[in-house]
Amino acid sequence: MLKIAVLGSTGSIGKQTLDIVRNNQNHFKISALTANSNIQLLCEQAKEFKPETIAIADISKYRQLKRTIDSDIRVLSGVEGIIEAATQDSTDLVLSAIVGIAGLEPTYNAIKKGKRIALANKETLVTAGSIIMTEAAKHNVQIIPVDSEHSAVFQCIQNDGNNIDKIILTASGGPFRTKTYDEITKATVADALNHPNWCMGKKITIDSATLMNKGLEVIEAKWLFGVSSDKIEVCIHPQSIIHSMVEYVDGSIIAQLGIPDMRLPIQYALTYPHRTKVTGTKLKLSEVKKLTFEKPDNKRFPCLKLAYDALQQGESACVVLNGANEIAVNSFLQRKIKFTDIYRLVYSVLEDHNSMVVSSINDVFLIDDWSRNACKELLKKGGYN
Ligand code: NDP
Ligand code: MG
Repeated sequence: MLKIAVLGSTGSIGKQTLDIVRNNQNHFKISALTANSNIQLLCEQAKEFKPETIAIADISKYRQLKRTIDSDIRVLSGVEGIIEAATQDSTDLVLSAIVGIAGLEPTYNAIKKGKRIALANKETLVTAGSIIMTEAAKHNVQIIPVDSEHSAVFQCIQNDGNNIDKIILTASGGPFRTKTYDEITKATVADALNHPNWCMGKKITIDSATLMNKGLEVIEAKWLFGVSSDKIEVCIHPQSIIHSMVEYVDGSIIAQLGIPDMRLPIQYALTYPHRTKVTGTKLKLSEVKKLTFEKPDNKRFPCLKLAYDALQQGESACVVLNGANEIAVNSFLQRKIKFTDIYRLVYSVLEDHNSMVVSSINDVFLIDDWSRNACKELLKKGGYN
């Protein structure tokens, strides 16, 4: 019986993870659940899965949560509470699915405790890739990717991780793939949230529309698979059937295919190195009929190139890219800026940043703070136009 702590259990990945656990109760048991502020859903999940611990990041919700929950479940709050939930002794595997840099500290601490990690929170590797991979090696911790592209690459390299020439990450292209730049400038929040293939949390859905998500995934791939950015290519594949590919030195390309359903990579991350049956629809290629591929357009989607540039610049630039992007996406979701301002803001903050060494998690948070504040200042002054 694998005991799992689900960080971000009330989110899109969290709920799909609990679906898998619900359907495989002979194999999995929930040891901890965490959320930011959605106590209603957290309570329902706690009643169903009876974990040892639940934690809520928003401390103002603690009393209400404690009042509603059975007394035999430990109730914690704040960042410290989430970290405690991520590191408790009884847990075997931590499913890291908090959104944004808020996922970093709990994941980092779980690694230090030797917990196996199923990683959905890409911001952990984007902001602290070197530190995380070093700690994971030190504590003999396996990080199993949940992000569908990285799960695909991980599956493609199971037989040969040494002779890779190139990693090819596929991208759906998002809702604006066929739109002109002028149309993209006028995109509303509803337009940007209308992803053609995937149903995900709001932040990653906006990142998918700007292609920043793919940029973050390039950085994530660099750390997970230890390859340089010139060996990571992005290919637009609107059907989202090929989840990514690996090209070997002999020119052979190995791909992983499946329907666009996050329960596949989540389940593989939980059962790895084994495979188990998944209930539901399976891929029927004769129904898909056509798989197509395009080059990404850096003019209409400049965020992808910005992420490559940040990776070239160094680790602190990746922290800045992520922090400014989180603020910019949030401002767009609050309808304070235009869709295309997301790029302008992140670009301007990166322009103002001087590269520096990132040697600890504390450094990451200092640089992240600087980036968020710089972005908020630009938002106030409007100087990014
Ligand atoms: P959601 O927005 O749907 O869920 C986020 C989860 O994190 C919720 O449980 C939320 O709690 C919790 N949370 C938010 N802020 C905090 C905080 N400050 N402290 C503690 N917990 C917090 O996101 P997704 O599930 O879509 O994405 C989660 C991660 O997985 C992201 O990093 C994303 O990039 C990655 N990912 C997601 C995919 C998807 O299909 N959704 C695919 C590949 C990767 P509450 O509900 O209370 O707000
Ligand atoms: Mg992905």
